[in-house]
Amino acid sequence: MIAISSISFGEDVEREVLDTLRSGIVAQGPKVKRLEEEFAALVGVRHAVAVNNGTTALIAALQVQDLQPGDEVLTSPFTFVATLNAILEAGATARFADIGETDFNLDPAVAAARVTDRTRVLLPVHLYGQTADMASLMPLAAEHGLSVVEDAAQAHGATFDGRGAGSFGVGCFSFYATKNLTTAEGGMVTTDDDTIADRLRVLRNQGMRERYVYEMAGQNYRMTDLQASLALPQMASYPQQVEARRRNAEALHAGLKDVAGLRLPSEMTGREHVWHQFTLLLDEDAPVDRDTLAARLTEKGIGSGIYYPKAVYDYACYREHPRVVIEDTPVATSVAARCLSIPVHARLSESDVEQIIAAVRGAMEA
Ligand SMILES: *Cc1c(COP(=O)(O)O)cnc(C)c1O
Repeated sequence: MIAISSISFGEDVEREVLDTLRSGIVAQGPKVKRLEEEFAALVGVRHAVAVNNGTTALIAALQVQDLQPGDEVLTSPFTFVATLNAILEAGATARFADIGETDFNLDPAVAAARVTDRTRVLLPVHLYGQTADMASLMPLAAEHGLSVVEDAAQAHGATFDGRGAGSFGVGCFSFYATKNLTTAEGGMVTTDDDTIADRLRVLRNQGMRERYVYEMAGQNYRMTDLQASLALPQMASYPQQVEARRRNAEALHAGLKDVAGLRLPSEMTGREHVWHQFTLLLDEDAPVDRDTLAARLTEKGIGSGIYYPKAVYDYACYREHPRVVIEDTPVATSVAARCLSIPVHARLSESDVEQIIAAVRGAMEA
């Protein structure tokens, strides 16, 4: 089986973890600090604040925005549920603007139309490893005085006009096991704003600046040095990992571009894609539907994934939630029924990629 995601830790990771174990410092310590410094450099920001997972990163980024009851966060409906759960956990109201079919990210024109007098935060999601259209979204946020929180959980190292995902507003990253960089569970918040960074650090540690001096009602959002030990060696080889993903994406493109009924993912001009996912979009009138394609790939030993099967609000627990505003997002709804991600990860061999191409070509025949 060629899996949709695959990780393997090298001896460098084993050594780093062992070093941490032997150091006696296993909770937040010097390795977390080093990871923060290296990650800030990757994103191109002054501050990176490590937390225990990507959902926490989003919650913390929203909690330092001084949101009041009734304040709205405008985001994408085509995302992992953590985006929505974080908005609700932070006490805000969620509203959704539709996505574009080409980059799967917030459509700035729809977002502009859905800003209300209660909107406080614009929360684009950089889905699949490619940023949203920040050249349109940043001026929109500025025009309405909105804070920008970026869900960059899938976009470590992606850029827009040379600027890193997570450097436009407050960036939120995940190091979950399936992400491009992983600490098993972990997250990072990035910002250029000294005050926000300071508040995040205090919030993360029980609201405590010095021992037993509490400045705010805080939490325990800390990452451990054991977790950071997994990521530190990965940081060193990350450019090569992304390059391998890019090569795989290019090969998949070359091998699948003429298949009838399939739309391939594209790297938009000015954006560097880090290929967290390679996501096919089946045309409405494609010879087979998405679920058939997925089933046929499974038969041939090719893993695939549906990210995501429905608009994120389209579940009873959210439709009935008093702080979720339900408005139509027809593109997201349609894309959710037609998308399928196929393996693009860095551990694929050339022959794996050839097998994937052959399997998809075969499976797309009626
Ligand atoms: C993975 C992910 C998250 C949540 O990160 P966790 O580390 O799993 O909590 C949030 N948003 C998106 C888009 C993700 O892919």
